[in-house]
Amino acid sequence: MHGLRDVLEQSQKNGVAIGHFNIADLVLLKAVFSSAQELKVPVLVGVSEGEREFIGVRQITALVRSLREEFDHPVFLNADHTHSLPKAIEAAKAGFDAIVFDVSALPFEQNVRQTKDAVEALKTINPAILVEGEIGNIGTGSEIHEETPDLSNGLTTPIEARQYVESTGIDILAPAVGNMHGMLKSMVQGETRKRLDIPRIVQIKRAARLPLTLHGGSGTDDEDLRKAIAAGITIVHINTELRIAWRRGLEEALAKHPHEVVPYKILPFPLNAAKQVTHSRLKLFNGERSAVGSH
Ligand SMILES: [Zn+2]
Repeated sequence: MHGLRDVLEQSQKNGVAIGHFNIADLVLLKAVFSSAQELKVPVLVGVSEGEREFIGVRQITALVRSLREEFDHPVFLNADHTHSLPKAIEAAKAGFDAIVFDVSALPFEQNVRQTKDAVEALKTINPAILVEGEIGNIGTGSEIHEETPDLSNGLTTPIEARQYVESTGIDILAPAVGNMHGMLKSMVQGETRKRLDIPRIVQIKRAARLPLTLHGGSGTDDEDLRKAIAAGITIVHINTELRIAWRRGLEEALAKHPHEVVPYKILPFPLNAAKQVTHSRLKLFNGERSAVGSH
């Protein structure tokens, strides 16, 4: 079984991206893992500070590890958007494969300093752990937003990207390239889609020479996602699309079976709804090639 670093290198070589899906319960974990297994592609399970507080830091580590071992499948665990060093250390000690250390809200110099310290501290705990740093503004909250946030001033520049990578020693960079967290109502209704700054991705990739992560991938134009991956994006985060599917699936189950109380008869609905999202997104991120022979 290869580690996450090898899998990232292989994905860069093949011009594909690893899907990163946030989960908060076993239903979503099953949806993510079974899709990756069926398509025979690696996958990243993400838990934000809030998500891992709910599911438990050591509990999610044990769950992901048990899947990896039992099925011998490359599934990795990422501590998404970790805003403080103590929380990052807690995840590293529990056995996470990667950590997004996110102090991007701070001024650039402070972001550099704190991220550099975090990289050193985390690699001391586990030299194999991968640390992702973030510069620029991609908004907050994987939810449905009423209004478009103005993130135009917060786009990452190639010069900043190079300086940040060289000064911090991070393994993965999360830039702001037109992406944003959450979805607008119009995106949920399918009327609008997020568009990405592809030339900027090309320039940042050239400057940073590291795997790049696209946060806030939900609701992004499919063709832009394909182009972004070709331009150098190696990890794509999907959260809001999964949350919407989970809720709609649950609502459908309760509407169809108003008197059902058996959880394992209700929960396959949100599981299957979420799986449709993970399946189609993984196919797109992996250039559809993995779709051959599957449904
Ligand atoms: Zn994110």
